[in-house]
Amino acid sequence: MRMLRVFGRLFDGLIWLICITGTAYGGHSFKEDIKFKEIAEDIWIYTTTKDLDKRVISSNGLIIRTSEGIILVDTPWDTKLTQLLVEKFKKINQEPIIGAYVTHAHYDRMGGIRYLIDNQIPVYGSKQTIEIAKKKGYTTPNQALNYKDTTVIHGDTYLTLFYPGKGHAPDNIVIWLPQSKILFGGCLVKSLIDKDLGGVYDADIKNWSMSVMNVINRFHDIEIVVPGHGPWRNTELLLHTLKLIEQNK
Ligand SMILES: [Zn+2]
Repeated sequence: MRMLRVFGRLFDGLIWLICITGTAYGGHSFKEDIKFKEIAEDIWIYTTTKDLDKRVISSNGLIIRTSEGIILVDTPWDTKLTQLLVEKFKKINQEPIIGAYVTHAHYDRMGGIRYLIDNQIPVYGSKQTIEIAKKKGYTTPNQALNYKDTTVIHGDTYLTLFYPGKGHAPDNIVIWLPQSKILFGGCLVKSLIDKDLGGVYDADIKNWSMSVMNVINRFHDIEIVVPGHGPWRNTELLLHTLKLIEQNK
């Protein structure tokens, strides 16, 4: 078992605030900025930002180094940022990217998969995500997985793909890394700086709490929870999300 290295959370939070309140930048719709933070051995959170109506929104994904190569969890917002992510990460590690998992059919999770597919990198998504992406006219993941609770193995690394039920989106999944006890909650989970549920145009607010409870009941030794947006922390994020859902009912 590898040793988990947790970095100063306060410091992370500070970076996040700077990120989120960052000023607009002349003429570009996407701020070409990517940050990497190694939160455990061979596991990085990457953060990209997007300028949405003059509000800078940051978004998290994961990069996992396995003995077979690099795995991505989600892509940045578009192909250009995804290319930039791949190129920038090469300065940290030159091993090939061997696959990507996307956690639901929204642009902030899979807007860049065209770049990966064009570079012969398999992109995995649930059948539900592929169906929804197809209906929306998005590029779809090219590897369909049919699962509710499945552990996949890449070399020496285990990833549990878990569908907890509807919440932020009808197809949102979470990804559990049992060896490092990291839960990638994606957009099912809100960060502590969120005061509301954010974009709920695809949400099922009635069932969202049950889905978060399914995550809590499924994974008992979570050390780090990574939300789709905002600072990562521990299981407090799951409780905070439940509180926000309750306020929204
Ligand atoms: Zn979403």
